[in-house]
Amino acid sequence: MATSTFPKKPPVTKGAAVVVEYVDRSPTTQSYLPEIVKGLGVSMKHFFKNTKEMVRGERPDPVLERYDDGISTISYPEQKRPYPERFRGLHRLTQREDGSPRCVACLCCSTACPAQCIFIEAGEYAEGDKRRGYERYPVKFVIDELRCIFCGFCVEACPCDAIRMDTGLHATPYDSRDQFIYAKDLLLNQPGADGTVKSANPRHEPGDKSHPGVDRLRAH
Ligand code: SF4
Ligand code: SF4
Repeated sequence: MATSTFPKKPPVTKGAAVVVEYVDRSPTTQSYLPEIVKGLGVSMKHFFKNTKEMVRGERPDPVLERYDDGISTISYPEQKRPYPERFRGLHRLTQREDGSPRCVACLCCSTACPAQCIFIEAGEYAEGDKRRGYERYPVKFVIDELRCIFCGFCVEACPCDAIRMDTGLHATPYDSRDQFIYAKDLLLNQPGADGTVKSANPRHEPGDKSHPGVDRLRAH
């Protein structure tokens, strides 16, 4: 019967030749028993430690606990790494009180976007709407999240606080490019990290007493 062998030490180089030392596997090595017992020991240690902490209600954040232990792997997506405070999440479009987009289709964001990944088709409000002739709305508003470099220029450029990157989310790992093309309805219904679809800034509609600027209803 042929004897199985494996290298014991790194190869020793003598000049150009490489000399490899081989040793026979011992029955202990062959059976893997010591390593199995060691592995079970580690599992049992964590089992009892985790159970004790859970019963006492002492369990810290499992991700941060891993970092403290020097372990850099986590069980994603059940566990997520803590994001830095300045993390920019996926985009969303904010809504007015009546649910319509705050976006006035001015194209400032798409003009500022260095990746040219925002497409907007502007439209006029319907006849009789007080916003008709005063401001427009996006018939289509599309962001290609795969081309986006998350620079935030679009948010900075927007005069209406209509586009935000405060969702605290990163892109879901889809399997087709089409699924990263975010259209208006999806963007409008994506809540911010605070759980609302509104903007943090109050909106002064044309005609409101609080409206500070040009108002066609008052013939300004
Ligand atoms: S974050 Fe930057 S790259 Fe992405 S859509 Fe906005 S402006 Fe474009
Ligand atoms: S999101 Fe803001 S900057 Fe972009 S088109 Fe709408 S109003 Fe203009």
